[in-house]
Amino acid sequence: MPPKVSVGRQIGAASINIDSYRPLVGDDLIDELAALARGLKGVRICHLNSTSFGGGVAELLSRYLPLLQALGLSADWRIIHGSPAFFSVTKAFHNALQGAQCDLTEEDRSIYLQVNEQSAKLIGRDYDVYIVHDPQPAAIRHYIGANREKWIWRCHIDSSSPAPNVSQFLKPFIERYDALVFTMAEFLLPGLQIKRVAFIPPAIDPLATKNMELPIDLCKRAMADSGIDLARPLLVQVSRFDPWKDPMGVIRAYRLVKEALPGIQLALIGGMAGDDPEGWNLLEQIEEESARDPDLFIFTNLGGVGSMEVNVFQRGCDLIIQKSIREGFGLVVSEALWKEKPVIAGRAGGIPMQFPEEYHRYLIDTVEECADRVLDLLNRPGERGNFGRTGREHVRRHFLLPRLLRDDLRLIKELL
Ligand code: UDP
Repeated sequence: MPPKVSVGRQIGAASINIDSYRPLVGDDLIDELAALARGLKGVRICHLNSTSFGGGVAELLSRYLPLLQALGLSADWRIIHGSPAFFSVTKAFHNALQGAQCDLTEEDRSIYLQVNEQSAKLIGRDYDVYIVHDPQPAAIRHYIGANREKWIWRCHIDSSSPAPNVSQFLKPFIERYDALVFTMAEFLLPGLQIKRVAFIPPAIDPLATKNMELPIDLCKRAMADSGIDLARPLLVQVSRFDPWKDPMGVIRAYRLVKEALPGIQLALIGGMAGDDPEGWNLLEQIEEESARDPDLFIFTNLGGVGSMEVNVFQRGCDLIIQKSIREGFGLVVSEALWKEKPVIAGRAGGIPMQFPEEYHRYLIDTVEECADRVLDLLNRPGERGNFGRTGREHVRRHFLLPRLLRDDLRLIKELL
């Protein structure tokens, strides 16, 4: 496959108005953001990753870039392309940074470096600041060599206990950056020699189709059209079909709940990311489970289910589950809480920080705990309502898009 760098998919900046966020996040934040943007006028920013669809980073960038542009900044999104072999190597890197073992062969190194070297020649040098996401394009900075631009590596992965061989291999490339950004201090890759590190959690866009307000009767009607019985409770998990998201664990928890509550239904909503070749086997297993259980629904298409459907199911269900074993941030948790939906989720990565303090008992470590909390919450509508409302306020204060832009622009300002 010839090397290629393409432009990311994003909505038009014209459809975004920064003032629409004022009632949601307050004037102070928007005023600070606008002032930062004025100070950075003329600075050209390039975000670089390896997929335009599937997964949180692509989701984030498709909304983030237009908002930057609406603030009057010059910002582009570039995507590096690679062969299936490249993405197998980078998925192994992703898993290894999360702690899985990885047999790193000479061939793997060479596949990875070749794509990075070729992409470095293609990305263009029309920018002042490059923000490179995750390990896939991380070595590009190395192949650029000496330059005047500022380079930031934005790691979305919990890389606190990485496989030593992959960590050793990637470190020299990462140490070439001017600054690193991790979601939280606990995620920091150990042993790095670097001058500047920032901790910035991601965020959701409350005005995106995925999160905008929808009438509940519309959601219910759409769910009924998909085969859901509205008279019985429904659990939902929205996730890529990835072992770390533990869809099989969700199915086991649902089966335990069914012993006590035979009417329970479960919908697994998800797809495969463009840079994740691992999902197919798992999807096959899940489809087998669903084939013998009329109350177990799988909604998928190649790149994942569309934003509107995700919104509909997050709003229309009774409870959201996110049974991750390892997690970067887990945007779906904020998406659900923003919709005032209670969430039962794995105590992993960035998930606990999205939970209001007083609802940490709904963070779980096992299938049994998951089933127990589901039954508990289904029996207590008052608790569900309070959890949802407190969750929305917590997300409003900490995890909405303008806060993320402000944190990033502050860092860029410091660097320049
Ligand atoms: N998503 C989607 N359709 C799907 C599955 C997921 O739109 O079928 C979205 C989901 O709503 C969220 C993102 O993809 O916005 C996943 O981000 P998250 O941080 O939860 O997980 P990641 O995939 O990045 O590990």
